[in-house]
Amino acid sequence: MTSLDDLPLRDDLRGQEPYGAPHLHLPVQLNVNENTHPIPEDVARDIIEAIARELLQVNRYPDREFTALRDSLAGYLGHGLTRDNLWAANGSNEVLQQILMAFGGPGRTVLGFPPTYSMHSIIAHGTGTEWIAGERDADYLISPETAVDWVTRTKPDLVFFCAPNNPTGTALGLDTIAAAYDATDGMVIVDEAYAEFMPDGEPSALTLLEGRPRLIVSRTMSKAFAFAGARLGYLAADPAVTDAIRLVRLPYHLSALTQAAAVAALAHAPEMLAMVDDIKAQRDRIVDELTELGYSPWPSAANFVLFGGVDDPAALWQALLDRGIIIRNLSIPGHLRVSAGTAAETTAFLDAMRELTVH
Ligand SMILES: *Cc1c(COP(=O)(O)O)cnc(C)c1O
Repeated sequence: MTSLDDLPLRDDLRGQEPYGAPHLHLPVQLNVNENTHPIPEDVARDIIEAIARELLQVNRYPDREFTALRDSLAGYLGHGLTRDNLWAANGSNEVLQQILMAFGGPGRTVLGFPPTYSMHSIIAHGTGTEWIAGERDADYLISPETAVDWVTRTKPDLVFFCAPNNPTGTALGLDTIAAAYDATDGMVIVDEAYAEFMPDGEPSALTLLEGRPRLIVSRTMSKAFAFAGARLGYLAADPAVTDAIRLVRLPYHLSALTQAAAVAALAHAPEMLAMVDDIKAQRDRIVDELTELGYSPWPSAANFVLFGGVDDPAALWQALLDRGIIIRNLSIPGHLRVSAGTAAETTAFLDAMRELTVH
């Protein structure tokens, strides 16, 4: 059988591991931080009508500039942003890849702060950008001083923050982002995939964009918007940043059907986001009840909870799987991560945890 070693693969990809969240279909899927609530039926009907209209014209290439979608995204984000500040792609992973193609690449470096979203380093490797692993302070925090210290010492071309951070759920102060920005001539990217789950009134890095042309805030419709299967991520930044990305994107990268679906969904933003408060309540319930069971959940500003105090994470993960429940083992010693689901799914998880916890 042919193996990778038999192929003339790029040397820098040899020995690398692909993104590997197990993709299993089980009654309770709380492993990849999806929104487990289905989208409301009236919204679904609007989306289908919008897609049907576009389908009659798919013999033509889509709007390469996805103007209507950028208008919708700007309207959703607010903060005085316009279509010129917005860019979108097939998931925020593609947005991050385009950023690294434009601003990273061979001979360039990107600084990140593990434990963090595994795709940040995987996309770095894929684009030939060297990944520099910074270190966090205690409790997974990053103080402005720590960020500045790492930026000053390693002089990266890009800095990646993830706020709230996956997989820890940790919030990040805007002072840290601003300090890192001032300490570098490179690009600063804030991955805000979970922004909608932050505590009410907590400011987004969007508030820092004004006057900071090297700052990029990336967002996604995959989580709060329950749109993971549709693939729509986006960024907000100075218009010059979107012009830079136009140099590397493939023409017509966003299909007409994707554009239509996203515009239709954004027109129902309040309805699409109605379950966010419920998910936050389930998240808080997970933190409370796991604490009662003797585990050590970390405070979370996202739709998932990382919890410690697990003697054998692999064994507990498997025991939950045997009960039809999948959560995530990220190889953080003594820890597992669980996404907040519907009330029923969360109850199923917590009931199983109670059974499996020996007192
Ligand atoms: C889930 C997630 C994403 C989403 O990626 P999409 O490609 O938009 O589905 C991005 N960043 C982080 C940190 C995530 O956890």
